[in-house]
Amino acid sequence: MADQGGDERGKANIGVLRAMLGFLRPYRAQVLGASVALVCTAAITLSIGQGLRMLVDSGFASGATEDALNQALLLFMGMVVLLAFGTFIRFYLVSWIGERVSADLRKAVFAHVVTLHPGFFENQLSGDIQSRITTDTSLLQTVIGSSVSIALRNALMFFGGLIWLFITNPKLTGVVLLSVPLVIGPILIFGRRVRSLSRSSQDKIASVGSFVGEAVKNIKLVQAFNHQQADRATFDRHAETAFDVAIVRIRQRAWLTTIVIVLVLGAVTGMLWVGGHDVLAGRISAGELTAFIFYAVMVAASVGAISEVYGDLQRAAGAAERLLELLAAENRILPPAQPVLLAQPVRGEIAFDAVDFAYASRPEVLAIKQFTLNVPAGSSLALVGSSGAGKSTMIDLLLRFYDVSGGAIRFDDVDIRDLDPAELRQYIAMVPQQPVLFTGTVADNIRYGRADASDEDIEAAAKAAYAHEFIERLPEGYQSFVGEGGVRLSGGQRQRIAIARALLADPRLLLLDEATSALDAESEYQVQKALERLMQGRTSIVIAHRLATVINVDRIAVLDHGELVACGRHSELLSQSPLYARWASLQFDEANHQASVADERPLSGAAQ
Ligand code: ADP
Repeated sequence: MADQGGDERGKANIGVLRAMLGFLRPYRAQVLGASVALVCTAAITLSIGQGLRMLVDSGFASGATEDALNQALLLFMGMVVLLAFGTFIRFYLVSWIGERVSADLRKAVFAHVVTLHPGFFENQLSGDIQSRITTDTSLLQTVIGSSVSIALRNALMFFGGLIWLFITNPKLTGVVLLSVPLVIGPILIFGRRVRSLSRSSQDKIASVGSFVGEAVKNIKLVQAFNHQQADRATFDRHAETAFDVAIVRIRQRAWLTTIVIVLVLGAVTGMLWVGGHDVLAGRISAGELTAFIFYAVMVAASVGAISEVYGDLQRAAGAAERLLELLAAENRILPPAQPVLLAQPVRGEIAFDAVDFAYASRPEVLAIKQFTLNVPAGSSLALVGSSGAGKSTMIDLLLRFYDVSGGAIRFDDVDIRDLDPAELRQYIAMVPQQPVLFTGTVADNIRYGRADASDEDIEAAAKAAYAHEFIERLPEGYQSFVGEGGVRLSGGQRQRIAIARALLADPRLLLLDEATSALDAESEYQVQKALERLMQGRTSIVIAHRLATVINVDRIAVLDHGELVACGRHSELLSQSPLYARWASLQFDEANHQASVADERPLSGAAQ
């Protein structure tokens, strides 16, 4: 059984390496050049043995002239120059191909990963994806850029050396050949073990990486809960497991190398013993034995080198497998074969038609049930409901991050599954609850909304979002760096940048997840004004957490456990929906409470 498993892995690996050839195809010329250089340098190296034989037999044997010696040495020098030049070309081209292919692979994997449906990332750790794109591609780069070339070069040396051995002395070659199975056998056995261990070693390192990523990203939470000790312990376990797995692999490799050396050098000694006696008995010349030893050492060294890089090749096969797995991940949200184009001008009318939806990870529970609602173009709709009611899910469905399980969502009367997702999203802008800023400048972050926007457009958007003033006050204005994730800006500032970004995109449909985190009164006021401006003249769907918002929108949809339980204006809902009335009274009480706290403040200040 175990053997069968090993064979299956072997087969998978052959397939993996063949798929990698696809990445070499565009560089045929370089591969050809490298191959020619490889064959030439191998041929030159092999012919050095013949040169040695001539040198020993005619150069130093009695009766040789100095001229002959000089000529032989001149020829030798010429070959050395050719060898050096050929090695330059081989090294340069092979390394070039390695770097090129790994850059292409990185690009291909990243390009594929960013197009995948968001559901894919629920089951995939981001650190794991990162390590595949960085570590695994680097591993492949080393292998393609050196190990493969070493393996090929040494394979040529091995076969070339063997042929010369036969030509030089068949009897001695018999001794060498007898030792071949003795050498290859253990290599295959240990090599197989190294291969299966290498994949688990790489998986362990990836899990170390994602653990670090999570802890560092949430360092404040880690420290606030005094979780450093616990995290250290968990991390130590991760690191130690990775170490243990690596050590098992290294031990196998160490044995592999040791066994190879003992067997190969043992065979060489045997050969010297037989050959030395032949020279003493006058059966072969000293030059022949010299050449023979040269070739035998070369053959032995090439077997050693191949066994060294064999482990690398196997590790690379593991890396290639992981990369191809990512490349093969299927995008569940694809444009249809013949996408419909939206009629111009795009209005931004939304219709939910008996929408059912269940997350793939929980197929038995409908997160959205029989949701039917029309949102006329240019109107605003607030989604309210308790946490887990399905509000964010609705937004995700509209952006077509998931496909509905039943019913349909229509944008301007077209089922969104008949549109290219890019076409659909071109008319939508999203302002998330926690505005996401990317590492870069303020201007970069606003330009995210529309790549071709001019500096004037960006400034106009920032002005409309009430962000211009504070941006101007930043040390370098629009060119100020926001820090990773925008850490250098306050919550309200980040929100206004996110709003400017959406304004710049000028969408037909605005999706807004209102921030719940409290802002100070001034920021809150400015964000609210910016939002009102953003919502003007377009269809807006808002996940509402504040009364101020719901009172201003055209209609409010009350969601409960994925179902639409009521829909109407604030005043209507107060009487029609007990759920809404309860929510509103909680909010009102809260608002009143906050107002009274604010009133008391001067007093308590005076008391102190
Ligand atoms: P809301 O935004 O109203 O708080 P959500 O739309 O986030 O609610 O969630 C609706 C339901 O779907 C909840 O029961 C939630 O647990 C579930 N849910 C949300 N996201 C996922 C997911 N990625 N996989 C499985 N279930 C999910």
